[in-house]
Amino acid sequence: MKVAVIDNDKILVKKVEDINFGGKKGAIVKVLGCGLCGSDIVKFREKISPDGTVLGHEIVAQIIEINSETAFKKGDKIVTSHHIPCGECIFCKSGNVSMCRHFKKTNIVPGGFSEFVYLSEEHLTHVARLLPENLDEIEGSFYEPLGCCVRAVHRADLSKNSNVLVVGLGSIGILMSQALKAHGMNVIGCDLIDERVEILKSFCIDSINSSDLEDTKKYIFNKTENNGVDAVFMTSGSDRAIDFALKMVRNGGKILVFASTPKNFGYANNEIYYRELTVLGSYSPAPLDLAESLELLKTGQVKVKNLSTVYDFDKINTAFDDTISNKILKAYIKIA
Ligand SMILES: [Zn+2]
Ligand SMILES: [Zn+2]
Repeated sequence: MKVAVIDNDKILVKKVEDINFGGKKGAIVKVLGCGLCGSDIVKFREKISPDGTVLGHEIVAQIIEINSETAFKKGDKIVTSHHIPCGECIFCKSGNVSMCRHFKKTNIVPGGFSEFVYLSEEHLTHVARLLPENLDEIEGSFYEPLGCCVRAVHRADLSKNSNVLVVGLGSIGILMSQALKAHGMNVIGCDLIDERVEILKSFCIDSINSSDLEDTKKYIFNKTENNGVDAVFMTSGSDRAIDFALKMVRNGGKILVFASTPKNFGYANNEIYYRELTVLGSYSPAPLDLAESLELLKTGQVKVKNLSTVYDFDKINTAFDDTISNKILKAYIKIA
């Protein structure tokens, strides 16, 4: 079978031996396609994952062999995520499922950018779901990334009609904005790229170009009785955006951190103290967040049509390049 691996500073498609059950229960699935996640880009660019790694986890797939008794059968088209919480450790019990050791250890094998993948029985039981009939495979590939956003919305624990600013309107910012809107928030999105600002407007969500700090502040304070927003969702991986968030959030407000930044700058201690701010992180989704994600997609409360640019498997390296250079919003690698 063909897989795409990290090979120094590029992604290389090569042939390897077919995947098998390895004596375990689960399913072998044919990957129809796989979304390219921002975390894949970070793992590749920052050289976090070694050469030979098969990245990708936002898969839509078809079951071609199954040896475990679950709700699924051969031929089913499914979506799945890659990690599964144990449900019993201190992290799971306190709601931080993505910190669970079992969660971090579990994965799809060898990775999503592969013609075939082995899914464990645990995947089938806890995180895999049938692709709803009204969603095409590309729309289905947003199951996991939208699940991440749903989790962030839950973590922020805001009351309805809160004023929320989403910083960064890449695909995640656009998903986040829609998930927040579906939860009854008043959302404003911002980005430095006009095209992205317009995309969010096309979803009937307020958004502005934030290149000019003073103009942006005026706009936001005008809309929030001169207070600033109740919460800022940071989907932008830029260090500069940290200071920006501190300027836009109201006293007593929340900043939800949802992206790594290259220089790892911190939020100013004294601002957090004097202004009673809450800065919190949100990482990867729990099974319940994923269930809600699929519901939002299925019911059209979050729309993802036309967000992705489709690449053939052999062109996956171009997909990485185009994502890194911000040429596209989101890549979907068509594999079958
Ligand atoms: Zn992802
Ligand atoms: Zn656990």
